[in-house]
Amino acid sequence: MKKFLCAFMLTTFMFTCALQARGTLQGIPQTTCKIGKTSTLLKYNHGTVIAIPRVTSVLWNYLANPDDPNDIPTMLEKFLPDLLTSDWCAGFSEYRTNHEAGVNTNQPIRKGFFVGQKTIFPQSGNTTVTDDEIQQTLIANIQNGSLPAPHKGNLGNNQSVYLISFPPGYTVDATSIGNGMSCSSFCGYHNSVLEPNSGITVAYAVLPRCDLNSCGFVDSDIVKSFEVVVSHELAEIITDPIVPEGWDNDPIVEVADICENESAGQITVGNNTWSVAKLWSNRKRGCVDQLPGFK
Ligand SMILES: [Zn+2]
Repeated sequence: MKKFLCAFMLTTFMFTCALQARGTLQGIPQTTCKIGKTSTLLKYNHGTVIAIPRVTSVLWNYLANPDDPNDIPTMLEKFLPDLLTSDWCAGFSEYRTNHEAGVNTNQPIRKGFFVGQKTIFPQSGNTTVTDDEIQQTLIANIQNGSLPAPHKGNLGNNQSVYLISFPPGYTVDATSIGNGMSCSSFCGYHNSVLEPNSGITVAYAVLPRCDLNSCGFVDSDIVKSFEVVVSHELAEIITDPIVPEGWDNDPIVEVADICENESAGQITVGNNTWSVAKLWSNRKRGCVDQLPGFK
């Protein structure tokens, strides 16, 4: 069965509302179809969350390019450890799956860590890449040791996350899974795939390089706009790694989707200030830069 996905769309507002229009909110004007309604609360669907995220940044055929003024790889090597080891990640304890979730599967969510950044070189050399090719390439590179092996936590659930960034000049064709083409229908999406040797279903995000016209979330800044997309997808992987078994609103609206029409948030970790996607907090009944979590 085809997995559901949650793509961070360009036409984000229309997307969220279009989904809801098929549900109970049909006929409600777009400006009222989201924030502040009880129907917006994320619900737990009794599956896995990522208790302690172990994140690998994967650079798809990414060669150092002196003509590229936007140094995404260097940003990711600083941004991801800051996200994962700070209160940004600890805040996801709001979506642990004990009694607050309604059904207790007893999974915490805690700070994680950055495993590292690896460049992979797919065999095909295609500059238009399908989700199918991405899955096959991810698994092949895990199995040949180019990427870290999947890891289960104490609960037996996957903890491994692979964030796959594409350089300029690449297009991701995700039409087969209903997401359309990169930079015209989506700015990022996440999905999961079974790695057969380990028997672990791993989570991954697809992060195309788009320009500011299509995926500009922070004025005139492609790198900061990319930070917003990365944090959006990572947040949704942590809370809903195997869509829609984690936290969603019906039918598939996830923790960052509810807030995707808000301007970007900001967090400071040490001396660094980062742009992040706003996240929906069930506890705060609103969109926040960082979830409150449970201490
Ligand atoms: Zn999303």
